[in-house]
Amino acid sequence: VRRNQGEAEFHQAVKEVVETLGPVLLKHPEYASHKIIERICEPERQIIFRVPWQDDKGEVQINRGFRVGFNSALGPYKGGLRFHPSVSLGTIKFLGFEQTFKNALSGMPIGGAKGGADFDPKGKSDGEVMRFCQSFMTELYRHIGEITDVPAGDIGVGGREIGYLFGQYKRITNRYESGVLTGKSPHWGGALVRREATGYGAVFFAEEMLKTRGESLEGKTCVVSGSGNVAIYAIEKLQQLGAKVVACSDSNGVIFDRKGIDLALLKQLKEVTRQRVSNYVSEHPDAQYIENGNIWDVPCQVAFPCATQNELDEASAKTLVANGLIALSEGANMPVTPGGIKVLQTAGVSYAPGKAANAGGVATSALEMQQNASRDAWSFEYTEERLHKIMCNIHRDCYETAKEYGHAGNYVVGANIAGFRRVAEAMVAFGII
Ligand code: NDP
Repeated sequence: VRRNQGEAEFHQAVKEVVETLGPVLLKHPEYASHKIIERICEPERQIIFRVPWQDDKGEVQINRGFRVGFNSALGPYKGGLRFHPSVSLGTIKFLGFEQTFKNALSGMPIGGAKGGADFDPKGKSDGEVMRFCQSFMTELYRHIGEITDVPAGDIGVGGREIGYLFGQYKRITNRYESGVLTGKSPHWGGALVRREATGYGAVFFAEEMLKTRGESLEGKTCVVSGSGNVAIYAIEKLQQLGAKVVACSDSNGVIFDRKGIDLALLKQLKEVTRQRVSNYVSEHPDAQYIENGNIWDVPCQVAFPCATQNELDEASAKTLVANGLIALSEGANMPVTPGGIKVLQTAGVSYAPGKAANAGGVATSALEMQQNASRDAWSFEYTEERLHKIMCNIHRDCYETAKEYGHAGNYVVGANIAGFRRVAEAMVAFGII
């Protein structure tokens, strides 16, 4: 704790993992003698840098950039970049730590990392975002590469930002190194389905959990928080599978549409005109916009928190349970607080932690790396089928590992142990490095 002072989210993420690892340490005493826990909690490297840029008024702005290479036992560092004013070293470390286990669970040869900046893209012009991305990459390029570290998007970093980052990387390195970033546009080296993958994957995982209860998503009432990349494509897949999504949100408020969210309109607002969800009601006056509302007050059977960390607390979990929730799949990273998780698990809700449920995004990024390495481009159908299989495998892995360790149905235990074992095995093999 002393070494990582003030990094509350990092402490939370580490505690949640470490407290489930007792049984695996008992079974594998070599993990303790190799100090795997102590080593896995210490990032291999952390880079912090100044990002100066000029806004449209000609004023100089300064932000702070981060890249934390957490663990490269299974492959090159891999993990997204987050641009949000709340970003600090503690945020990036919690995300990088989680990413290490998630990437191991995905079954792909990738290590764990995360990065970003305390830059707020909201309200910035295209030119400002471009100048910021160029300045950010002017330092970051020294630390990344297709066999070293491969960043991608996260909150505030979508196709537009990846384009500007890649453009600057290409320009200053004199290399068209497609595999250095994922989440690229399919027009120039990106993979089809990458944009959809995290949201679709969280829904595929929920579908597998429901199967174990003899249920399916068809006809279920669902709530999806957020209205960004993950939320939009979770809603899309839910609708394709016959579920009804009645609410979504942004950081200002909640949209409740009892007829079901109009996805075409939501995409237009968020992806094309970059507006707030409050604008939804001008097209659908019968829907409700609840300023500063709590989306978890909306009754549903299956919930998908897809916005940000700690967005669903103990009180909200109690409301959801009282309203008949049967399953919850985390599209976001660590969206449910420890108190909230306890309420859900005690009530018998099938609960999927983000490191398992939202691994579809990074798994498809690894598929993008494969396509880049072989100079190939796969069809949408083929890539979606691969994603679907990967999510079913992750579900099975978590389910069976939990059972093996005497915690049947506990996906937290299953995901933590299954991910940890893979990383630990490689670390033991490599010796003390
Ligand atoms: P986006 O930036 O596309 O969307 C984020 C959404 O969450 C927006 O609707 C945003 O609202 C809302 N949000 C963000 N911060 C807050 C906050 N502090 N309080 C309330 N709402 C907030 O990001 P993504 O959809 O890519 O990411 C969402 C989550 O999914 C994150 O936890 C991310 O780490 C996780 N994730 C993403 C992956 C991906 O492939 N993109 C992969 C795996 C996990 P507003 O516009 O008002 O800020």
